[in-house]
Amino acid sequence: MTDLTSMTIAEAKAGLANKSFTSLELTDAHLAAIEAARSLNAFILETPDQARAMARAIDAKIIKGEGGPLAGIPLGIKDLFATKDVRTTACSKILGNFVPPYESTVTSQLWRDGAVMLGKLNNDEFAMGSSNETSCFGPVVNPWRREGSNTTLVPGGSSGGSASAVAALLCMGATATDTGGSIRQPAAFTATVGVKPTYGRCSRWGIVAFASSLDQAGPIARTVRDSAILMRSMAGHDPKDTTSVDRTVPDYEAAIGKSVKGMKIGIPKEYRLDGMPAEIEKLWTEGAAWLKAAGAELVEVSLPHTKYALPAYYIVAPAEASSNLARYDGVRYGLRVPGRSIGELYQNTRAEGFGDEVRRRVMIGTYVLSAGYYDAYYLRAQKVRTLIKKDFEDCFAKGVSAILTPATPSAAFGVGEKGGADPVEMYLNDIFTVTVNMAGLPGIAVPAGKDAQGLPLGLQLIGRPFDEETLFSLGEVVEQAAGRFTPQRWW
Ligand code: GLN
Repeated sequence: MTDLTSMTIAEAKAGLANKSFTSLELTDAHLAAIEAARSLNAFILETPDQARAMARAIDAKIIKGEGGPLAGIPLGIKDLFATKDVRTTACSKILGNFVPPYESTVTSQLWRDGAVMLGKLNNDEFAMGSSNETSCFGPVVNPWRREGSNTTLVPGGSSGGSASAVAALLCMGATATDTGGSIRQPAAFTATVGVKPTYGRCSRWGIVAFASSLDQAGPIARTVRDSAILMRSMAGHDPKDTTSVDRTVPDYEAAIGKSVKGMKIGIPKEYRLDGMPAEIEKLWTEGAAWLKAAGAELVEVSLPHTKYALPAYYIVAPAEASSNLARYDGVRYGLRVPGRSIGELYQNTRAEGFGDEVRRRVMIGTYVLSAGYYDAYYLRAQKVRTLIKKDFEDCFAKGVSAILTPATPSAAFGVGEKGGADPVEMYLNDIFTVTVNMAGLPGIAVPAGKDAQGLPLGLQLIGRPFDEETLFSLGEVVEQAAGRFTPQRWW
């Protein structure tokens, strides 16, 4: 039998359909891989009993021909998604041993379609971070290493567990969320494919909220096709989320292999940063050449407000976070640290329950929303946000189908290497991704090459609202040209 963990979802679907193996066998192979990879710290909760029960149930359905589009496929779930009767913590001490009595809409759609849950994946605390180092369960290890070096590298964040687990063949795909880059940046750091859908495409119901006007769920997978397969199950209207949009979910997989001839692809000049590593520049040029060879037309475009995106994001996101996180008070659920008064109970609980980065965001957010500063910071940032959105609209109005940029300004870095003295050093990771969230657009990160030290690098494609299909078509062109990248197993 072929190695059951190295297949793509598309291959596993075919194998399950023609009875080459069962979902239980596939699930057991992944559970064994997870057990052997605990040093990566990608899974923070393994649910083997539940996984096997789900696999057995789906095997019985497959025999009757009632499988569903994800029948028998083992997945990992970011710990930001509420899973019924399974501990959900957002990797924060403040949620303690919270066990939700409900299931998030996105995960319930995956189970509806026959997927199997292997367990919960590590992430930055409340999804705040770019390296998975803010998790209360400790950092996730990237399965990639620099050539000839044993240095432990971060997988990116906040969906670091998802990216690491998918890259290390611990699950066939994973759920993730992206508020400013948390799907695309870890995908780029681990040579996986990450899709941040249009705002409103996937329901946010049952996902721990970080910044509600920016948060979107999406998949991380090993190929563009697999990410399209997962997206179809994750997307869709949900009356429980008023920001979810009532539009038909297309067959995303059908977009794979569609011709991109004649498509206009924008290259934004503002994304060419001073001091950008030559390797990233080269990758970008190469990516443009691949799309051109496939018949697309490359045009230079301008997104003039790009330089304000990061500062505006780091006002809007903390403002929303400070408001969303007000609910963690030690009274209703999660951690409770007693005090002599109710006020002291709040203070003690929040001081002990939140990590440093989360506390920083709550303080920044509260500050920019406070009387006297609201107009100067929050309102101004919202205006900038409108201008950023308009930059993209102007660009699309000129007939541009998608925009090509690097996914990250560097390859994966070492644990403890960034942000210690200055948090902005960490925030700069999101320079190419936050604009997309600010504008509510879809984006995909696709592995495109390696740096001189053998670490993966990714390219990003940004699309028109609700035109994820074009991103899948273009993404596959990049994937075909670049080839696929797998880390050498050392763990
Ligand atoms: N790294 C960014 C932040 O820390 C984005 C995080 C995310 O997308 N969840 O806010």
